[in-house]
Amino acid sequence: MKIPFNKPFLTGKETAYIEQAVNQGQLSGNGPFTKKCQQFFETRYGFKKALLTTSCTDALEMCALLLEGNPGDEIIVPSYTFVSSALAFERQGFTIKFADSQKQHPNVCASSIAAQITAKTRAIVVVHYAGVAVELDEIKRLATEQNLVLIEDAAQAIDSFYIWNGKKYPLGSLGDLATFSFHETKNIIAGEGGLLAINNEQYIEKAEIIWEKGTDRASFFRGEIDKYGWVDLGSSFLPSEVIAAFLYAQLENLDEIQAKRLLIWQRYFMGLQELSKIDKNILPKLPVFATNNAHMFYLVCQDEQSRTDLIHFLKANGIHAVFHYQSLHKSKYYLNKYDERPELPQSDKYTANLVRLPFYYSLSETDQNYIIEKVLEFFQK
Ligand SMILES: *Cc1c(COP(=O)(O)O)cnc(C)c1O
Repeated sequence: MKIPFNKPFLTGKETAYIEQAVNQGQLSGNGPFTKKCQQFFETRYGFKKALLTTSCTDALEMCALLLEGNPGDEIIVPSYTFVSSALAFERQGFTIKFADSQKQHPNVCASSIAAQITAKTRAIVVVHYAGVAVELDEIKRLATEQNLVLIEDAAQAIDSFYIWNGKKYPLGSLGDLATFSFHETKNIIAGEGGLLAINNEQYIEKAEIIWEKGTDRASFFRGEIDKYGWVDLGSSFLPSEVIAAFLYAQLENLDEIQAKRLLIWQRYFMGLQELSKIDKNILPKLPVFATNNAHMFYLVCQDEQSRTDLIHFLKANGIHAVFHYQSLHKSKYYLNKYDERPELPQSDKYTANLVRLPFYYSLSETDQNYIIEKVLEFFQK
């Protein structure tokens, strides 16, 4: 028995669409498949503008360029997140201020964000961990009151929603800017790939320029101007049509992929209910204002030793379970570069105690029942 942590899922249409892209005569970016993918996001989720990028990291770098910071400007970022959520802004010269997670959830805590706001704060970056919405009304209120840009790192949050006054808002639609990832480990994949969603119209024109190597090429191709040239900073952030073709095959099957993943998530949650009798904090919690997009299934062990033991026990039984983020305020880079030593105990707790179980579209019911049985066996020992 060997159960991997992740297996990429293919819908079967990917190679046919890539062949179509090859035959259509445009392989560079911003062609027909790119437009189809972008349209999908604009129509389905109401983003004012969607731009495909080569990764979520790139989309975050575009956000950092869009902010046009001054030396000393600060960005508030959760400590419990992937490196890119902070790195993209650090690279552009911003000063990073880390916020802590919630006691009950790895997501960032609104009051910890509020405590980090100073006169130099420019933006708040939130991460919807496991595709579960952060406390958006509270955080949006902070951003509005203090005139800060709100950026959603929605890398894990495709097709998930925030419920506000009885209405469902897609994650990625409430920030000024939002970023998504189509890395092989996410719900919808393109190998490597990402998306920048722009909801605040003031950023659209500049974002297209940054996307196209600092040129006004996008508006040239729309016939708005008669020649294009170098007008601003930028890079080559757009993926080729080969990537967009692959991605489009996935997007067409989004509903089916999501339904299957939700089924797998639910099976874990029901199958592991016994754990809540051992400790009510082991199973993941879903706040009332959040939907679940079944991005991952994690457990929060009681301490680091029991997590290490669980991972070893599962490994000995052929199951590959993994831990996740390491607090960024304890990273080698941060400790070398910054003098502050913030105390963020909740982020450290998830760093030490959180474990993710195998999760992929083709995970069979038999394999999943076996994983559930082994996890229960470990905790009941
Ligand atoms: C996966 C992920 C990223 C990075 O995405 P890439 O597409 O690999 O650049 C950034 N932030 C979060 C929260 C992620 O989960």
